[in-house]
Amino acid sequence: MSLLALAPENTPVSRQPIGIYVHFPWCLKKCPYCDFLSIAADRQDIPAERYTRQVVNELVQRADGVEGREVASVFVGGGTPSLWGANGIAAFLEALRDRFSLVETEISVECNPTSFSRELGDSLAEAGVTRISLGVQGLQDDRLRFLGRLHDARGALAAVRDAVACDVPATSADLIFGVHGQTAAEAADEVATVADLGVQHLSAYALTIEPGTQFGALHRRGRLPLLPEETAADCFRAVRSALRARGFEHYEISNYAKPGHHARHNVGYWRGRDYVGLGCGAWGTLSDEQGAFRYRNTVSIDRYMALEHWPIPSEVTAGPGQPHQDFERLDVEARLLERLMLGLRLAEGIHVPSMLASLGLETLGERRQRRLLELKTRGQVEWDGETLAIPAAQWLFADGIIARLA
Ligand code: SF4
Repeated sequence: MSLLALAPENTPVSRQPIGIYVHFPWCLKKCPYCDFLSIAADRQDIPAERYTRQVVNELVQRADGVEGREVASVFVGGGTPSLWGANGIAAFLEALRDRFSLVETEISVECNPTSFSRELGDSLAEAGVTRISLGVQGLQDDRLRFLGRLHDARGALAAVRDAVACDVPATSADLIFGVHGQTAAEAADEVATVADLGVQHLSAYALTIEPGTQFGALHRRGRLPLLPEETAADCFRAVRSALRARGFEHYEISNYAKPGHHARHNVGYWRGRDYVGLGCGAWGTLSDEQGAFRYRNTVSIDRYMALEHWPIPSEVTAGPGQPHQDFERLDVEARLLERLMLGLRLAEGIHVPSMLASLGLETLGERRQRRLLELKTRGQVEWDGETLAIPAAQWLFADGIIARLA
């Protein structure tokens, strides 16, 4: 799927295709840098079948709110969805097909090297999965240990080979760079090795320290070794140059794809498309006649498993112990700000007239227009009156540039 095929329309967001995100919250072990909702469990203790039934229950109830909408993408994320197994994922996709046409839909499943095999890949392909997203994270045993991963470099490489060889048409790999002790040359070598195994997509994220994690706690006590910022920036540049030399487009700050293999689901987020979130702790954002709302399902697995009824938006009371952990109405200013923050991560930037039309707005507002011109004068954005983008040379400073437009 090319980016052009997803070009933003002038139609309201509520009539554009949607994404569907499903969260599978279990992992074999909690990684010290991870702030996703994940519950550490032994494989035999994961109630995969009950979870499938519950996700399907939720789907059936939420589907009414998006009836008739085209589904552009489905993403099964986590946690570690490769622990769900092919049967659970197939049953969920079957239930989805009962309500939506999935003919042209990108269907991705996140997998970890320790729970992925060629056999699992082939079964996922049979269930209709079109894309494996593999959490490689690194190719040096000591750094994988530092990141708390259960696999080693050999296991990571074997999993990439299996993903590429299995019947699922496309493979993406996630890698983390900027880890203590790493050089720019090592970061470039890792992405080059994975790229040369035949993946079509690669996400390369800088290690970030999130406050609610084990790394966050160590960092607060000054006990977490970190790479100097300048070396991390060198890693970013080295990764970019290694992947571009191999024919990958750097289409988003942290994402690279062979032509035609952009992650359609994530492009949907960056372009502000609606998505339904299903599963324990899942977030969803949808437009309706009153504007848009965002929700998060309960983060308690016991509460999620016991739910029989998912309240419709007008009946939601969010909070601990409720079906929804969070619920908020998004006003048009909040939506505009998000569209700018996310859209400016893309190399293609934002087609501003289409974005404004899809939100029912006419202008960006005087203050933002003024700031845009200042940023353009400093070479920090490209702006021709229609398309707004941050040039690649400025991507390392994207957060600051975007903050100027807030
Ligand atoms: S495997 Fe992934 S989701 Fe699970 S704890 Fe590690 S980083 Fe988080």
